[in-house]
Amino acid sequence: MRPLFIAGNWKMNPATAKEAVALAEAIKNGVGPAADVRVAVCPPALFLDQVDAALANSPIGLGAQNMHWKPDGAYTGEISGAMLNDAGCTHVILGHSERRHGMGETDAQVNAKLHTALAVGLIPIVCIGETQQEREGGQTEDVVAGQLTGSLAGISAEQMVGIVLAYEPVWAIGTGLTATPAQAQGVHEFIRDWLTKLFGEATAARIVVQYGGSVKPDNAAELLACPDIDGALVGGASLKEADFLGIIRAAQ
Ligand code: 13P
Repeated sequence: MRPLFIAGNWKMNPATAKEAVALAEAIKNGVGPAADVRVAVCPPALFLDQVDAALANSPIGLGAQNMHWKPDGAYTGEISGAMLNDAGCTHVILGHSERRHGMGETDAQVNAKLHTALAVGLIPIVCIGETQQEREGGQTEDVVAGQLTGSLAGISAEQMVGIVLAYEPVWAIGTGLTATPAQAQGVHEFIRDWLTKLFGEATAARIVVQYGGSVKPDNAAELLACPDIDGALVGGASLKEADFLGIIRAAQ
């Protein structure tokens, strides 16, 4: 019922447009003209235009890693949703933990960005997840519920179906410490229950919830086999075409 969705978050990599285009072309060639699973890549904003051109005639979506909540104006250094549309974006990552914890991004800001992204027709990928300290303190569900409540404020059931969630435990990002399938499924089930309470069972059953945090070709299959895990948001392994294609294959 829910198609698996594999997205690559390239973060602040690679260093040059030439390398970004080469990576996009390699992934495009590996995926072929018609993918069985949804795939997207999210390069740095500066390379979106060129990666979009490289992905022409491919089913691979193009995502940005962030956007501003205002449509335009005096916001030095920021990028608007309209600009992302113009660059060919279909998706935008919102509230990544590296922005929440590194840049002080709040649930209220993520929520404002979410409403703006929907208004301009981008598919948002909203990230949530607890830190190691929060997990060890038994606060995982409270933290995740708080982030969901704040980030999704004012969203209707109809809008929710067009939003992707990504559960990314902060302690598993870039650390090589993947959540076990049981740990990940446990939180995904909690998220599905939370969505059911808020939006009803039929809507909750349609919402794609990705897992992110040290997903690799050799652990992807067991994570993706969990009933409430609907794909992966991949960091490090999305920068190596063989690894990213291996994860896509694990989803097929
Ligand atoms: P890693 O796959 O490198 O752990 O990163 C996950 C992530 O943050 C994707 O958004």
